[in-house]
Amino acid sequence: MSILSWIENQRKLKLLNAPKYNQPESDGSQGLWTRCDHCGVILYIKHLKENQRVCFGCGYHLQMSSTERIDYLIDTGTWRPFDETVSPCDPLEFRDQKAYTERLKDAQERTGLQDAVQTGTGLLDGIPVALGVMDFNFMGGSMGSVVGEKITRLIEYATQEGLPVILVCASGGARMQEGILSLMQMAKISAALHVHQNCAKLLYISVLTSPTTGGVTASFAMLGDPIFAEPKALIGFAGRRVIEQTLQEQLPDDFQTAEYLLHHGLLDLIVPRSFLKQALSETITLYKEAPLKMQGRIPYGERGPLTKIREEQLRRFAKAPKNPQYSNLVAEFEQLLELLTSDKNMLSSVDVFAPETVNKAFELACGSQTRLDWLNDKTNQFRLRPVF
Ligand SMILES: [Zn+2]
Repeated sequence: MSILSWIENQRKLKLLNAPKYNQPESDGSQGLWTRCDHCGVILYIKHLKENQRVCFGCGYHLQMSSTERIDYLIDTGTWRPFDETVSPCDPLEFRDQKAYTERLKDAQERTGLQDAVQTGTGLLDGIPVALGVMDFNFMGGSMGSVVGEKITRLIEYATQEGLPVILVCASGGARMQEGILSLMQMAKISAALHVHQNCAKLLYISVLTSPTTGGVTASFAMLGDPIFAEPKALIGFAGRRVIEQTLQEQLPDDFQTAEYLLHHGLLDLIVPRSFLKQALSETITLYKEAPLKMQGRIPYGERGPLTKIREEQLRRFAKAPKNPQYSNLVAEFEQLLELLTSDKNMLSSVDVFAPETVNKAFELACGSQTRLDWLNDKTNQFRLRPVF
């Protein structure tokens, strides 16, 4: 062995045995400097934040955290968050390289959020709105059962109160770790939006930011009355590579960008971030004068006694009373159900009861005290709308 090859061997050995340092992943929220994802210019974070995270070099819109977005869209001091304590569980006990619970814990510690969305109400240029903002930093903004539930509750609240809903989407799609439970959220949110938009005739604006993909695109992101997007935002369902492999053809360079989608009629407007608040407030102001709005109730049309919606309302009411004062009502309702199930075994669903029975249960559940008076189908307003 020559001396040179010995030195070379020693060097390799040293490299092999050297301790490995795990570089902390830079998330753009710490440190002083960051780099533009598009043109590579080095940016001073303080100035970048003042410029709403828009690159000074090329005008590219970098990712914003949900808190920054709320600060920017909602008038100072008027934000009232909803369901901040709702946090995800791990029903499938899912594990890949890491357990799902660990991933959740990491993300919660890193972002200070319980899940990938913040919802609440506030004033936007003095107009009350219901706003939901997804946070891409929390597990890629994926939509699990908590995201679905929070957004659904926000929409239902907005429907009750007659508020316009704005959802700012930034998501990698449904959360795979929750399997079918996360896919169900797509249908749940869409159903709530249907009542909001088509029955109560209220406004829903979706704002698509980069990236909006997967199950979010396939559900509420594309259901907006007007759909806004940020310039050059990546919006799509499946990824480019998957589509290219399936179709066996080359896709254009600007495929799945906001501009491409606008050109092909999937979006209504591309709004730069600096004008977004103004565009939203002008749209809502225009809509203020719109007729036929329903407020204070979720109208559900002429229903038979056993529709699935009614069943769900009964279920929700019985299992999760919002107010302790309902506990008596719930107990009575459960007693009634027990009474009914005692003579017939194996009854598990509401729809096996006779209509009169369910009506009776309903009367019990919807006392005059109840705040949820839309549960009560005695109100004639519902009769106006035979189908929805
Ligand atoms: Zn740039």
